[in-house]
Amino acid sequence: MPHSYDEFNPLEAAEARFDLAAAALNLNEGMRKVLRSPAREVIIHIPVELDNGRLEVFTGYRVQHSIARGPAKGGIRYAPDVTLDEVRALASWMTWKCAVVKIPFGGGKGGVICDPSIMSDRELERLTRRYTAELIDIIGPESDVPAPDLGTSQQTMAWIMDTYSMHKRHTVTAVVTGKPVDLGGSQGRTEATGRGCLIVTLQALKKFGIEPKQARVVVQGFGNVGGQAARLMSQAGLKVVTLIEWDGAVHNPAGLDIDALGAHRKATGSIVNFEGGENVDKDEALYLECDVLVPAAKENVIHSANAHKIRAKIICEGANGPTTALADPTLKAKGIFVIPDILANAGGVTVSYFEWVQDRQGYFWSEELVNTRLEEIMTASFRDVVNYAEKHDVDNRTAAYMLALDRVAFTIKQRGLYA
Ligand code: NAD
Repeated sequence: MPHSYDEFNPLEAAEARFDLAAAALNLNEGMRKVLRSPAREVIIHIPVELDNGRLEVFTGYRVQHSIARGPAKGGIRYAPDVTLDEVRALASWMTWKCAVVKIPFGGGKGGVICDPSIMSDRELERLTRRYTAELIDIIGPESDVPAPDLGTSQQTMAWIMDTYSMHKRHTVTAVVTGKPVDLGGSQGRTEATGRGCLIVTLQALKKFGIEPKQARVVVQGFGNVGGQAARLMSQAGLKVVTLIEWDGAVHNPAGLDIDALGAHRKATGSIVNFEGGENVDKDEALYLECDVLVPAAKENVIHSANAHKIRAKIICEGANGPTTALADPTLKAKGIFVIPDILANAGGVTVSYFEWVQDRQGYFWSEELVNTRLEEIMTASFRDVVNYAEKHDVDNRTAAYMLALDRVAFTIKQRGLYA
């Protein structure tokens, strides 16, 4: 890695993993260049009239990293610190994630530099509609299918779907995923990422011969991914002994009652002082001895300065990029079984794929069918990655990247270059 390497820069992290896998695959330099370069990057300046009558201009991005295996797929992020580099990194992550679970999508990501926490719904709606109108020629069910990400929601997707449909003069539900169920969203989408974490965690426990009922789990983040993962793991009989949030952590060696903890947070605004557990130090809680650690809050939580303190047997990466590239060798040396983000949290994009399929069919599946098909895909993908890692004597993350790069490179070679 270069001397100026920034451990916490998402683009550098993505490139570090890419380089490692490309070298292990012996990919030639030309193909590396193709796979590294985003297919298309769009920068737009979005004028919006604020509620107080003032005109503001926001900057937005959409990056289509790859459309080799299908339409670009990936969320749109609204945050004050969005950068083009970050969007590029996240778009490439989506390409590899979709390839790991073998769904027919490429990778994309979007972002707008804004602070949704200080904007009204009307302002956010105007921003979203104008952003969508500016992207009208590049998004679409066949070309680029956005979804929610940080700072955006089902409502944002409904506005995008409506704006796109108004331009096309007919309703096009398949232009986005993560929509409300009444507007063509899928059953099971809210739980999908957490459910995917549960499915791969059960596979890993089986591999280690650990009975789910004996498994002690520490979850960081009680949001969409961590909250659902904790709830579903607890329902499946695992003991979720610790939950960590930004303002504190709670612990109960017999297992936390996740529904009661959810109700406590709803009532008090925090997970701390929960009567079904004791407060523990949130920083130290990450280093508790446990069978499974699920970092499901944010990126760069496990890094070169703290990786040696982790005492989990298995890490299931619910968040995107919770482990830095410099922490990987330490986890490997400690023999920790890492289920990498591009596999562990791929349940979300897999059910997004199901949503897109259902919208295009105009025929909607039961939650049971969604969950069964999700389980099939996550289980097969887990097996693919772990078998590949064992066969090539690499860690699971490198195996996942190698599989993904190889699949995308193979598609590009088969299609040939249009010139
Ligand atoms: P979310 O906003 O619903 O939840 C995040 C939770 O983490 C919040 O409860 C927040 O308070 C907590 N948190 C923030 N900082 C923390 C800290 N320092 N320590 C402990 N807790 C902290 O977000 P989410 O949708 O659950 O996404 C979480 C991660 O999973 C992100 O990295 C996201 O990119 C990734 N992810 C999400 C999905 C999805 O379907 N939602 C899919 C794939 C990956």
